[in-house]
Amino acid sequence: MSHVAYVNGRYLPQKQASVHIEDRGYQFADAVYEVTCIWNGLPVDHAAHMRRLRRSLSELRIAMPCSEAALTAITREVVRRNRVTRGTVYLQVGRGVAVRNHSFPAKPVKPSLVIVAKHGAGPTESVAQAGVKVLAQPDIRWGRVDIKSIGLLPNALAKQAAVEAKAFEALFVTPSGTVTEASASNAWIVTKDKALVTHPLSTEILGGVTRDTVLRLAKAAGYEIQERPFSLAEALAAKEMFLTGTTTFVMPVVRVNERPIANGSPGSVSLDLRQRYIAYVNALDERAWAVDAPR
Ligand code: PLP
Repeated sequence: MSHVAYVNGRYLPQKQASVHIEDRGYQFADAVYEVTCIWNGLPVDHAAHMRRLRRSLSELRIAMPCSEAALTAITREVVRRNRVTRGTVYLQVGRGVAVRNHSFPAKPVKPSLVIVAKHGAGPTESVAQAGVKVLAQPDIRWGRVDIKSIGLLPNALAKQAAVEAKAFEALFVTPSGTVTEASASNAWIVTKDKALVTHPLSTEILGGVTRDTVLRLAKAAGYEIQERPFSLAEALAAKEMFLTGTTTFVMPVVRVNERPIANGSPGSVSLDLRQRYIAYVNALDERAWAVDAPR
């Protein structure tokens, strides 16, 4: 079955889909994106992804390409045409096409919009049950990583280093030793007294939609939560560590570089939160497409 992409107003076979060479996304990474998990044919946290998209665009002064209702309808149609039941939808909005010039086009141009879908959602359950290794990498990204921009070269380089070290993810560490997040997920530790610690929202991390949902599920389950920075040294001495993200859900970390976390197996809190998250996505229904979905 050939994949269908939505590109600037048209549904096209993915092989025939293309963008203009003077698209500012292509030349300046002047674009933002969202990746939403499709689970049993339904989007996970669609309303929250729409909210974050709106925020990223507004921080960069790029107009919404159309209403949220229209974006939702196109996303649904891409999911339907590709017959995705478990997978992901990638949505990218850019400032548009203009003659190459660093400053914004003098006359605003139409924002560009691309939506594609992919089959297959994240790593298998057996990967999560075994836990994963992460590789510490210097956080060399720009100062506004709270904006979900497509400028992901530092993330790509860090992830490549992780893959070459047979690690699942790269863990970003600042020069002062703080763990910010991972290359495509948020990082958490569990302290000896079972408190959950994750970096607070700031310009130094992407406010993960999964991070937010896991915070909510963890609070409801009665866990103590500390949104504060933690160091690599604290992580190495932690009881547990895990990652959260759209494609990873809750992923136990059992090793940082060559150092095991605790006894080197997934911790009970990480596995409990993973189960709670899976129960949450399994309980989605048609209301999941609502842009004002209750949280
Ligand atoms: N941090 C970074 C740098 C990311 O790229 C991502 C997702 O791509 C996340 C965190 C997790 O965000 P979300 O839970 O919204 O997928």
